[in-house]
Amino acid sequence: MAEDTKGITVKKADDMPEWYAQVCLKSEVADYAPVKGCMVIRPRGYALWQAIVDRFNEMLAEDGVQNAYFPMFIPESFFKREAEHAEGFAPEVAWIANKDGARERLAIRPTSETIMYDSYRRWIRSWRDLPLKINQWCNIVRWEVQDVKLFLRSREFLWQEGHCVYETAEERDKETLHYLERYRQIAEDLLAVPVLLGRKTESEKFAGADRTYTIESLMPDGKALQMGTSHDLSQGFAKAFGIEFQGRDEQPSLPFQNSWGISTRLLGALILTHGDDKGLVIPPRMAPNKVVVVPIIFEKHKAAVIAAAEKVGAELKAFNPIIDTRDEYTSGWKFNEYELKGVPLRIEVGPKDLEQERVVIVRRDTGEKEFVPRKELVKRVAALLEDMQEGLLAAARKRIADATVTVNDFAAFEKAIKEKKMVFTSHCGDADCEAKIKERTAATSRCIPLDEKRATPAKGATCVLCGEPATYALYFARSY
Ligand SMILES: [Zn+2]
Repeated sequence: MAEDTKGITVKKADDMPEWYAQVCLKSEVADYAPVKGCMVIRPRGYALWQAIVDRFNEMLAEDGVQNAYFPMFIPESFFKREAEHAEGFAPEVAWIANKDGARERLAIRPTSETIMYDSYRRWIRSWRDLPLKINQWCNIVRWEVQDVKLFLRSREFLWQEGHCVYETAEERDKETLHYLERYRQIAEDLLAVPVLLGRKTESEKFAGADRTYTIESLMPDGKALQMGTSHDLSQGFAKAFGIEFQGRDEQPSLPFQNSWGISTRLLGALILTHGDDKGLVIPPRMAPNKVVVVPIIFEKHKAAVIAAAEKVGAELKAFNPIIDTRDEYTSGWKFNEYELKGVPLRIEVGPKDLEQERVVIVRRDTGEKEFVPRKELVKRVAALLEDMQEGLLAAARKRIADATVTVNDFAAFEKAIKEKKMVFTSHCGDADCEAKIKERTAATSRCIPLDEKRATPAKGATCVLCGEPATYALYFARSY
């Protein structure tokens, strides 16, 4: 039977990398590419990305950020202007020789600070030109990636990058955190993936930033995933690119900048977090089709159930239903197919249901099945979708809480990391000490909580590794 070869053949708990690859491929969200380190996003996967793009564009409009587009080729000299930035990105950049016979090579953008700020220099003259708030949706190339992990790690991926310029540091600081909060809303309210909000340590921050803020989640395999970052950029970029404005006091001033981004990696988080042994589970707010209607076809009642299914579909138009009236596939085959593809609700309409003026609704997340009177259909579908959205977030939150442990000594730290947990602990703040932890456990610091109370170590607390006085409390985990 088709079911046997098409379904997921390993359990999520047994072999998560293999399970993950099968879910991506068999639910038709992504495919491998003929080019090393690259991936193909199929229509079903792109529809998920589109849901993020659409929601985030609404937020950008509310926040007064405008979309624009800059070239993907960046002159080498631009890169070299901000030293830390150039050094940080050096291993990741793909270069092409300039075919026009010019002197310098061109980088394929690994991020667009430098090419954008060259334009900003010409566009910004006075404090009246500020704030300047621009976003671009584009592709990005990070050449060092060898082996593709669909959505999670690839040489080329899609993202948005916001780049804003402000008159004052206060305004900049406030907005950098505002965009981080926007990312939290995307992750939790749309994707139903719970995140920690925090600040990166000095060793983990963005090359060229004063501070990097992050949203981090913990995947079911015990690996943390960085899902979005927002950076307070140093004034180094403004200096390097000659961005200067005439202040209200008519004196030349250096502006304050931030940049922030989320990428197609979020889809990896969604799949890992919610998927199960049957395949993809799409949170209702993300699902392009929130409902599938399947008529249970017997020859005798065929016309009647198909007509009823179409009528149900028409009533549920707001949920963009799939109405699968094909009779070359069995109902069982269809059930498996839509479970694999993660459609949130399945509605069955059979001869008996017709007789009793009801439908059967089955939830993708819990598998719960209920009979719903025909006249309560629309209301019940809306309620179930909302319940499923909240249920997925709550379940993931619980899993992450259960997999996070607070430790005070290094033996407990090592044990917890081996057991695929996320660790909350105290640290001295020294970069070498942090590097030693990574060397010994393969765990990296994820973030210092944004919540100041949580980030402050207990009185007298010491570093989990070196025993020096603790500077802050933070999370460690292995990561993608
Ligand atoms: Zn230490």
